[in-house]
Amino acid sequence: MSDSLIDTTKMSAGQRAALELAESSRDSRELSGFAASLFDGSPDFRLLFPLPKPQEEERIAGDAFLEKLRRFLSQETDPDAIDRNGEIPDSVIDGLAALGSFGIKIPKEYGGLGLSQTSYSRAAMVLGGHCGNLTALLSAHQSIGIPQPLLAFGSEEQKKKYLPRCAAGAISAFALTEKEVGSDPARMSTTATKSEDGSHWILNGEKLWCTNVLKAKHLIVMARTPLPDKPHAITAFIVEIDWPGVEIVTRCRFMGLKALYNGIIRFNDVKVPSENIVHGEGKGLKVALTTLNTGRLTLPAACVGLLNRCYSMALEWSKKREQWGNAIGFHEAIAGKLADLRADAFATEALVLYTSSLVDADHGADIRLEAAIAKLWGTEAGWRGADSTMQIKGGRGYETADSLRDRGETPDPVERLLRDSRINTIFEGSTEIMHLFIAREALDPHLRRGAAALDTRKDKGDRFHAAVKAGIYYATWYPARWIPRVAGLPHDLDPALKSAMHDVASLSRRLARTLFHAMALNGPKLEKRQLLLGRLVDTGAELLAMSTAAAHAHSLGDPASIHTARYVCTRGKARVEALFRASSAPDRAAYKLTKESLA
Ligand SMILES: Cc1cc2nc3c(=O)[nH]c(=O)nc-3n(C[C@H](O)[C@H](O)[C@H](O)COP(=O)(O)OP(=O)(O)OC[C@H]3O[C@@H](n4cnc5c(N)ncnc54)[C@H](O)[C@@H]3O)c2cc1C
Repeated sequence: MSDSLIDTTKMSAGQRAALELAESSRDSRELSGFAASLFDGSPDFRLLFPLPKPQEEERIAGDAFLEKLRRFLSQETDPDAIDRNGEIPDSVIDGLAALGSFGIKIPKEYGGLGLSQTSYSRAAMVLGGHCGNLTALLSAHQSIGIPQPLLAFGSEEQKKKYLPRCAAGAISAFALTEKEVGSDPARMSTTATKSEDGSHWILNGEKLWCTNVLKAKHLIVMARTPLPDKPHAITAFIVEIDWPGVEIVTRCRFMGLKALYNGIIRFNDVKVPSENIVHGEGKGLKVALTTLNTGRLTLPAACVGLLNRCYSMALEWSKKREQWGNAIGFHEAIAGKLADLRADAFATEALVLYTSSLVDADHGADIRLEAAIAKLWGTEAGWRGADSTMQIKGGRGYETADSLRDRGETPDPVERLLRDSRINTIFEGSTEIMHLFIAREALDPHLRRGAAALDTRKDKGDRFHAAVKAGIYYATWYPARWIPRVAGLPHDLDPALKSAMHDVASLSRRLARTLFHAMALNGPKLEKRQLLLGRLVDTGAELLAMSTAAAHAHSLGDPASIHTARYVCTRGKARVEALFRASSAPDRAAYKLTKESLA
């Protein structure tokens, strides 16, 4: 029997394997932090106000790097040509390496720039508004490739051997996905078998869609290493691309990100030294999940750049394009889209900077919820923003930059940005998987207290005892979720934002009560109510976006930021109220209808 909090006895074998593997690899710490307090109905604004700022020395070093990066990108790179040709010129890769862009967060002692998570996120913002292909190249290398897992889990020998190479521009990659393994690693078929003397492992299998693999020198590979008590155990290995038996099978091509060096890689009896295991045998999924916690912040950061670029193109066009007697920006339907673009860029930036600052303050900080919400909320906003920019630019949005240039018009690359950004809601945790992940984490405090009472694996006495304990706890917890209480707001906060934070506190209490009701009504079946859970997660995500936007505006202090944050909050409150109002009836009807189709 697994030690999972969730009763898996009534699940199919496949479901049980997936869930037990995910459960055994979760961060088992009790949740803490502002996002957790929102789901608990007791938002602690002291954790958010004032928004932590980077140290002055770090900010100066970060600014200097960003300035060089901006100059290099504008003078030495042509994103439309990269998209058109499907290749990144070697001179661009070499130039980025010379700037230190492949080792932004790698400490100086290992040859990197030694910059913070905040500076790294700001670099992703710069890249995201310029070129999706370059963003993916640098991000796959250092957000999920060798540097991030080694910084978190690598041995000193591994760091000394591989980090200086990575910082100098030896590209890395991350290989988890297989044909049968998308969001469900329990189906992994790549295996590694230990040699008799324990000195090395033999790796066999094939990985799909490995970004950077065509240019990579080394990569992190996830492989099954079954243990007697853990048949689905997964281990993370560092594999060098020129080792015997490593074969690149084919390059994969996509709707966007045309110059992604992504492909299928096969391992035929590859001999991997035991010292290349990261973090220990059977701990690979933990390495992957923890790496992704921080790693997936790069995607919303890139979406900030994308949204700012979209906003500036859409705004310019809305000022100068006249139709029906007015500049189109003055038609309310377009004005609403422009306001949303500005708000989404600002709120995503706030989410990313806040979460990055938590990492900088403490590298072991628990950012599970914040990073996942930034990914979910920011990438959905990025996609909506690219889509509405296309709508605002009309036919010119759909036309390629090259064609616009040929006709003597401003070559805004809207369709390229739209194509390139579509993948953001799919990889590094799809929107659906982020909903489940956040729901699981948000419900954890309740599962810790209440799940034992409903767990059919336990005997009746234990279940009764657990129910009494939970009852005592909830006898004070639940009434407190009705009592208005707001703590930790700064006295000089803009009055409209202060009032919005009172709304956040009240909506957060309602969210906590609704989560509690959903658990009480559905019991273990709540896990299957994905649409309901999705709405509850979206509610918490919206409340976090409102709160961080307010804190970000408060720390910037300028009128434009305050006005933007006020709009984020007005819109957010309306969205949350709509989410609470949404009926569950269509959820069941939809499921029934689809079941009929699937049959
Ligand atoms: C351009 C690109 C680059 C990539 N780079 C890498 C890389 O560098 N390394 C790497 O390892 N992988 C990489 N991937 C793989 C990527 O991470 C996967 O595509 C992603 O994990 C989703 O897997 P899948 O496509 O197989 O979808 P599936 O897991 O088959 O899912 C299909 C759909 O079902 C939904 N779904 C799945 N399970 C559930 C569930 N339990 N409940 C509700 N909905 C569910 C998903 O959200 C999705 O909408 C890349 C993919 C692409 C396209």
